[in-house]
Amino acid sequence: MAIGFVGLGNMGAPMAANLARAGHAVLGYDVVAAAPEGVERMASLEELASRADTLITMLPNGPIMCEVIHDLLSHAAPGTLFIDCSTVDVASARLAASDIAAAGHAALDAPVSGGTGGAAAGTLTFMVGGEDADFEHAKPMFDIMGAKAFHCGGSGSGQAAKICNNMLLGISMIGTCEAFALADGLGLDRQALYDVVAASSGQSWSMTTYCPVPGVGPKTPADNDYRPGFAADLMLKDLSLSQQAAAASGVATPLGRHAQTLYDAFVANNGAGRDFSAILEHLASKKADV
Ligand code: NAD
Repeated sequence: MAIGFVGLGNMGAPMAANLARAGHAVLGYDVVAAAPEGVERMASLEELASRADTLITMLPNGPIMCEVIHDLLSHAAPGTLFIDCSTVDVASARLAASDIAAAGHAALDAPVSGGTGGAAAGTLTFMVGGEDADFEHAKPMFDIMGAKAFHCGGSGSGQAAKICNNMLLGISMIGTCEAFALADGLGLDRQALYDVVAASSGQSWSMTTYCPVPGVGPKTPADNDYRPGFAADLMLKDLSLSQQAAAASGVATPLGRHAQTLYDAFVANNGAGRDFSAILEHLASKKADV
């Protein structure tokens, strides 16, 4: 039997190609995209499901993922392992997992961090929700597509971990950009701020690994005219998912909500398609109401 891979876009294509390169028989299906080298393209979800014992999905959002899972369920062999690597809302992940279990199959939600570069290099981080045994079964595949895989708990826990992480990332990137904007206003050299923060309590991944300022710190999208990297649109998607989850669970996340508002405004004002760290320019152009 083979691995069936649905969604051969920016992330799915290199992930499927890595599985094929590692010696797996990989079958692919996408409504638009072509199959990458080593992956056999199927004409329908039915054909894909009937020839695979593991089905991986890498799709744009929860409604599309649920629709695809629904179609796959009618054709999958008993005991098929479903692994959804898309970033979707926690409610859709739990709904899909319960439908999959009710049909006699196994389900893992396994969203990733690491972007297209990590997908190509096979260095993604997987955050996984589901049963222990299913995680162990899938681990060798995660090890091919990624560098780390964390089993976070039951169904939906992978998506929960992903949106908590990305809400924190959005907030910390905005905080880092605000610090640079304030430094500019105070006449403090950007390199000097970086050197101090990198060795002080304000240090974060947004500052020292993904510095939003060109020419400061390691090479980042800021040094490549803010070409993504991690697009602002995807950050906005993840912040919106975090706010959907916060509302559904009755948890107050005021900074997460404000980060969503700021990314919404940035994406609407020429931020679409740019790296999420380019919000630096958007924030630096604002003048305080005094
Ligand atoms: P993408 O738009 O490049 O790929 C999605 C693919 O799904 C497309 O090729 C599209 O044709 C296909 N598709 C849509 N509907 C379909 C259907 N009904 N049946 C079959 N195929 C269908 O998106 P991407 O960048 O690869 O992202 C995929 C997922 O990974 C998203 O949930 C995204 O949030 C998440 N993600 C992306 C990144 C990133 O940096 N791009 C990083 C982490 C997570």
